[in-house]
Amino acid sequence: MALTLEGKTALVTGGSRGIGKSIAISLAKFGADVAITYARSVEAAEAVKAEIEALGRNAKCIQADAVDFAQAESVVNEIVTDWGKLDVLVNNAGITKDNLILRMGEEEWDAVITTNLKSIFNYSKVVARPMMKNRSGSIINISSVVGINGNAGQSNYSASKAGIMGFTKSYAKELASRGIRANVIAPGYIKTDMTENLGEKVLEDIKQSIPLRRAGEAREVADAVVFLASDMSLYITGEVIRVDGGMAM
Ligand code: NDP
Repeated sequence: MALTLEGKTALVTGGSRGIGKSIAISLAKFGADVAITYARSVEAAEAVKAEIEALGRNAKCIQADAVDFAQAESVVNEIVTDWGKLDVLVNNAGITKDNLILRMGEEEWDAVITTNLKSIFNYSKVVARPMMKNRSGSIINISSVVGINGNAGQSNYSASKAGIMGFTKSYAKELASRGIRANVIAPGYIKTDMTENLGEKVLEDIKQSIPLRRAGEAREVADAVVFLASDMSLYITGEVIRVDGGMAM
């Protein structure tokens, strides 16, 4: 069977930059119509939409705060109304607000937990109805190796990313009988805006901890998403796939 997403529709949250952008474009390259959401980067999001359209696919870019349940409902309603169905959801939107617990403010905790974890509840819940109607769907949640190993200074982030794994396995069990799959991708250190200010020393230490001895590319995360979105992975649900150069093994 050839790997194709022809005839599928997909939604990627946080698709304006970094890993989400790469995922959106890869899904389109394999034949899907793709909608992205974003928080602030209007021009970057419009550019991603144009890139998808240049590949001959339908595209949407919708400004929607992933934390807001009502906005998630309206995004999914718009896609289902205009495109007839939603086959693939990629929950990618995420932020970091790093600090040691002793210095971490309540706001830093709340912002990361709601943006990274509540957003997953919002979109996963809202897509259930249209996916159940089709008796098919693939939900792909972007976690992190930090959710597996923990990381000093990232307790809020690692809690949100570990939470994603527990949520996804539970939801996979709830939805399996309806033909809907839910899986996690846990990237390691990937070069994006999120990781660009880490500093030389931290980066060198990170690289030394990666068996493949290099940072990953956003495209390499996107490749795993394409597989989980496709019918090549129909018997895979509740799984966590690390895309981390071996970092968390
Ligand atoms: P970036 O900071 O480069 O991009 C983040 C994206 O999320 C942007 O599109 C941003 O939109 C969007 N976003 C942020 N907050 C919201 C919100 N409240 N509502 C809607 N969209 C939002 O991050 P990365 O590409 O590096 O990370 C993407 C995902 O991958 C995250 O979940 C991250 O935790 C995870 N990850 C990243 C790793 C890495 O090494 N980079 C490693 C492991 C996991 P806007 O442009 O409008 O701000």
